[in-house]
Amino acid sequence: MKIDLDKLNLKTFNIMKTKKMRERFSGSNNPMSKDNPDSESRRKSVSEKLKDRPSKLKGRTYEEIHGEEKAKEINDNKSQLFKERFIINEFQNLLDYFKIDLVDEKFEGSHFKHTWKCKECSHEFFQIWNAIQQGFRCPTCHPRFMGDSQSERELREFVKSLGIDIIENDRKIISPKELDIIIPSHNLAIEHNGTFFHSEIYKPKYYHLNKTKACEKIGIRLLHYFEDEWIQKKDLIKNMLTYTLNLSNSPRINARDCIIKTIDQNVSDEFLDTYHIQGKTIGDRIKLGAFHNNKLVSLMTFRSNNKIGLESEWMLNRFCSDYNFIIPGVASKLLSHFKNNYSWDKIITYAERRLSDGDLYKKLGFSFIKYTDVNFWYTNGGLIREDRRFVIHKMKKEEIKNGITQDQFMAAKGYFKIYGCGNLRFELLK
Ligand SMILES: [Zn+2]
Repeated sequence: MKIDLDKLNLKTFNIMKTKKMRERFSGSNNPMSKDNPDSESRRKSVSEKLKDRPSKLKGRTYEEIHGEEKAKEINDNKSQLFKERFIINEFQNLLDYFKIDLVDEKFEGSHFKHTWKCKECSHEFFQIWNAIQQGFRCPTCHPRFMGDSQSERELREFVKSLGIDIIENDRKIISPKELDIIIPSHNLAIEHNGTFFHSEIYKPKYYHLNKTKACEKIGIRLLHYFEDEWIQKKDLIKNMLTYTLNLSNSPRINARDCIIKTIDQNVSDEFLDTYHIQGKTIGDRIKLGAFHNNKLVSLMTFRSNNKIGLESEWMLNRFCSDYNFIIPGVASKLLSHFKNNYSWDKIITYAERRLSDGDLYKKLGFSFIKYTDVNFWYTNGGLIREDRRFVIHKMKKEEIKNGITQDQFMAAKGYFKIYGCGNLRFELLK
């Protein structure tokens, strides 16, 4: 691989500019670092080569030998050489980091397309270097979507199709921040957040929360949907929006006509994956279903950290209904069933602030306690957004023992953090 250094300047490495990204290359991630198991042999071979080379300076400075002018030239050349080596090393580091090799013999510059080979799946792809740094990696292992993506356009078109007036891409309402969609008649705004451009590489930790707060200040409720949610749960989001906007045509069911029964994990999983934006959950001890004509139409789940039989504190973990029906009072009926049939002193629950104002829980008698710090997931900039709580289960024992952090573990797989807006915590006491 040959690199034309004029075409590969330091600006190319913008991704490395942040402290966080540099930290990910330090320690054992750096090929020359003492912490890297291969660095010992690398360093040895360098010192071996230099061992018998006589020093030309013999204790004198360049100025003493060549005079000031020539010495300056030599020093400038040396620093240029250092810079070039630094750039090449950095380039190699990035290739390792992105798990790709350059197939072409010569690197022609950041703006020219080259053939790259994915080290993970051996797939070859044709791409400009700048785009790779913007997240366009191996299309097989790291599929991702464009900025003003098709999914964002679809969401806009859907909201427009409801026949309400909207304002698009406004920069005045919470100036200078932009809002994707505003529905003035409902004091509602909607953000479509692409997983790559809204990850920590491009957006600071409180970016989403600060937008939410800026909107709240002027009486606007802001909903944030992630790109992967729209693509994978389009029908659910459409129904959530029509419900929020009071435009739902779904038939009504009377909660009085529903029967409450416990349900098993498989049934719960399937229902949650279809009707809850966060999907199924593991470890919820009590799963209550509301049945109408023997059809499951609503679900509420509870978990407890207390010993089985000695539970006092519970968490209401999931609640959702089949969006093909409107079932007023069903949440209250499910909660009452729980309160009357299980031992409890306290029930807590969380509402995700980017999606909900927690109004339902207030109506059920819960008290608002506090806002939590912002939550986050790990994203590959594509369709995957992993819950941080599941990462620890994927790490091997030796990785945990060696002090590898979750962030490092995920970064090595090409995953970055993406932040939400935190939760609202509610409590209900007996
Ligand atoms: Zn690949």
